[in-house]
Amino acid sequence: MTIQEFDLPARWRSLLLDNYSEAIHNLEVSWPDVQSLEVSYRDIEAFDPDFALSIVEEPENNTQAANQALGLLLSELGSPRIVAFVRIIELPSDAHRTVRQLRSEDLGLMISVDAIATKIGRVLPRTYEGSFVCVACGHSTRVSQPNEQELIEPIECFEVDGGCGRRKGQTRFVQRVEESILIDTQFIELQEPPENLRGGVQPERILCIAEHDIAGQLNPGDRVTANGMLFVRSQRKSGKDTPIFDIFMRIHSIQRESIPLEEIQISDEEEREIKELSRRDDIHKLLTNSIAPSIFGMDKQKETLMLQLFGGVASKAKDGTRLRGDIHILLMGDPGVAKSQLLSYMSQISPRGRFTSGQSASAAGLTAAAVQDSAADGRWTLEAGALALADLGLAAIDEFDKMNENDRSSMHEAMEQQRISISKAGINATLSTRCAILAAANPKAGRFQSVSEIPFTQQINLKPALISRFDVIWLLTDQPEADHDTMIANHIMTNRANSTPEILIDQGSAVDPSKSSANDGLDEDKGIVNRELIRKYVAFAKRTIHPILSSDAQNLLREYYVETRRKGGESHDSIAISARAIEGLYRLAQASARVRLSDEATIEDAERSIRLTKTWRHELMGENFDETTLQSGKKATARNRERIVLEIVRRIHAETGDVASLNDVLTEAGRSDISRDVAEDLIDVLCRDGRLMRPGGYETLQPV
Ligand code: ADP
Ligand code: MG
Repeated sequence: MTIQEFDLPARWRSLLLDNYSEAIHNLEVSWPDVQSLEVSYRDIEAFDPDFALSIVEEPENNTQAANQALGLLLSELGSPRIVAFVRIIELPSDAHRTVRQLRSEDLGLMISVDAIATKIGRVLPRTYEGSFVCVACGHSTRVSQPNEQELIEPIECFEVDGGCGRRKGQTRFVQRVEESILIDTQFIELQEPPENLRGGVQPERILCIAEHDIAGQLNPGDRVTANGMLFVRSQRKSGKDTPIFDIFMRIHSIQRESIPLEEIQISDEEEREIKELSRRDDIHKLLTNSIAPSIFGMDKQKETLMLQLFGGVASKAKDGTRLRGDIHILLMGDPGVAKSQLLSYMSQISPRGRFTSGQSASAAGLTAAAVQDSAADGRWTLEAGALALADLGLAAIDEFDKMNENDRSSMHEAMEQQRISISKAGINATLSTRCAILAAANPKAGRFQSVSEIPFTQQINLKPALISRFDVIWLLTDQPEADHDTMIANHIMTNRANSTPEILIDQGSAVDPSKSSANDGLDEDKGIVNRELIRKYVAFAKRTIHPILSSDAQNLLREYYVETRRKGGESHDSIAISARAIEGLYRLAQASARVRLSDEATIEDAERSIRLTKTWRHELMGENFDETTLQSGKKATARNRERIVLEIVRRIHAETGDVASLNDVLTEAGRSDISRDVAEDLIDVLCRDGRLMRPGGYETLQPV
C-alpha cells in the first residue's frame, strides 16, 4: 500500500504527537540554539512500518510534510515564528551504503553513509526563497530556489498576483535580498573510512551540501553517519552540459559516532578470545612478539610500540585542562634500520592507523590546509590532514624531520593539546588530533655520530621543544656486529623464502598468505597474535579499560623520578629528568595495565614503565642523561662551561669595576679545566647570543 501524499502531514502530526511531544516542547525552549528535532526511524517503524518505508522511498515529500507538521505543532504551542526541522536518524540497515556503492538507482532515496568529513567549505548564505521586483511596475514576486547552482528568476510579472503581466524579455527583475529568505549552506566532502578498504585502494569521496543548522556543524576529520538524498548535476565540457552526471548528496541529518572506534565490531566469540588472551601471564611478551614479526630483534622498541597501541588514559583535570593519554614515540636512526617498516606495520595493526610521510604528497599535509576545490565550484575548502584523520588512532609519520613549515608550527598543539584551531581562507574549524604519534627521523648528516660528542638534538632537524613532546625516543644506530648481522640476514632470508610471489596471488594460483585462515587469531606455534585480532584487542581495551595507578605504583614512579633528579643534581648543574617525564611514565604504566585488561596499574606495570624509560634514556644519552638538553639543545657540560665563563667575566667586572680583558678570562678559565680554544669559542657564542659584549674591541669583555 502506498501512502497518499496528502496523508503525509496528518501522519507526521500523529507520529510527532504520540512520540515527540516532550521533545517538541524542549525544542521550543532551546530554539534557536537547537533547530532540529531528531526523529528515530525505529520509532517511525514501530508506529507504522508502511509509513516508515515511504520515508526511505520518498524522502523529499516526507521531509516537507514533517517540517510542515512540526511548524504547525509549534505554532499551536504559541510559537508560530519558530522555523525548525525534523531530522530523521538511525535509518535501517538496507539504507546503508558505502560511498563506493552509490549507484544511479539510489537517486531520490534516503540513504545513509558512514564516512569521515575530509573537507569543509565556508558557511555561506544562499537564497532559499527569492523576492524579485519588476522594474517596470514595482510589483514583487517570490520564487523558491531549489538549488545552489543558479538563481531562478520569475518568468513573468503575473497579472493574477497583481503584477503588470510583462514577460521576462519585456521587463527586468531585481532581487531584493532583504525580502528574500536566506539560509546557511556549506559544501562538505565525505570520504569512506579507510578501514573498510582492502590493500592500497584509494578511498572514494562524495561532495555534499549541508543546509540550515547542519551547515557549520562538522569539522574536517569528524566521523559521522550522514543521512540524505542523492542528486545529480551534469558534468560540463567546454561550457556545455554532457549526459554524464556527478553525484552529490544533500545531507538531511548527521549522527556522530556513539561509541569510540565504532567501526571495529567485536563479536561475543572474539570478546571471549580477547579476555582469555589477556589472562595469560606472557600477554605482554606475546603481543610484543606479534609486532612486525618480520623485523628481527628490537624487542625493547617493540615493547614500547606495543604499549603505544594501547595508550594511557586521556582525562580532564578539575581546572578543565586535558591530560593527554596517547603515547608519542620518536624513532631516530640511521637509514636502513627498518624504521619505515616498523611504522608501516604499526599503522596496519592499530585501529585507525595511518601511515604518512612528513613530506607528504597531499596538500593537507599532517594537520590541515586550505585548498581550492574544483568539485565545489572552485571554492576554498579546508582539508583535513593525516593527524585529524587518525583521530583516536595512530599516525605513523615517516621522515618527520622533513615536514613542511606549516605543519611544524601546528605540531606542538597537535601533539599536546591534541586539537588544532585553524582559520584559513575564511573558514574556522577545530580539528581533533587525539592520536598517538609514531615518528621516524633521519640524522642530518646521513648517519648518527656518537651522542657523547655531539648531542643528538644537534644531529636532527627538529627543534628541542618539539622533541620533548615525545614520551619515548629511541636512537637506532646501524653498527656492524657480526653475530647480530648474521641473525638479521638469516631472518630476512627465511622471510623471503617463506613468502609467496605476488603475481601468483594476483593470478589466483596462490593464496595470499596474509589473508589465509591460518592467520586468524592466535598462532601458538609462532607465538604471535595476528593483526586483525590485535586491532580488535586494542579497540576493546581502549573502549572499556581505563586504568588508574595503585598507590604502590604511584609511589614507585615518584621514587624513580625523585631519585633520578637527585642523582642528576649531584653532577654539576644538570637536571636529569624533567616533570614532563612523570606524565610519560604514568602513561606507559597505564598502557601496561590496559594490555592485561586491568583497571588498576600495579607495581609490575610501574616497573615495566620505569625499565623501558631507563633503557631508552640510557641508549639515547648514555649515563648522563640530561633532560634539559632536550629543552635547550645543549649538553650539560657545555652549559656548565658556559656558566663558568660567564661567572668569570662577571666576577672580574665586579671586582675591578672595569671591563675584563680576554686574556685574564682565558687564564681564569684554564684554572677551571676549560682550554683556551674552548673558552674562546664559548665567548664567541656568548657574544653572538648577546649575553656578553665587547665594549672596547675584541680583547675586552663585559657582562650584559
Ligand atoms: P629505514 O626506514 O630505517 O631507512 P627501512 O624500513 O626502509 O629502513 O628498512 C630497510 C630494509 O632493511 C628493509 O627491507 C628491512 O626489512 C631491512 N631490515 C633492516 N633491519 C632489519 C631487521 N632488524 N630485521 C629485518 N629486516 C631488517
Ligand atoms: Mg625510511
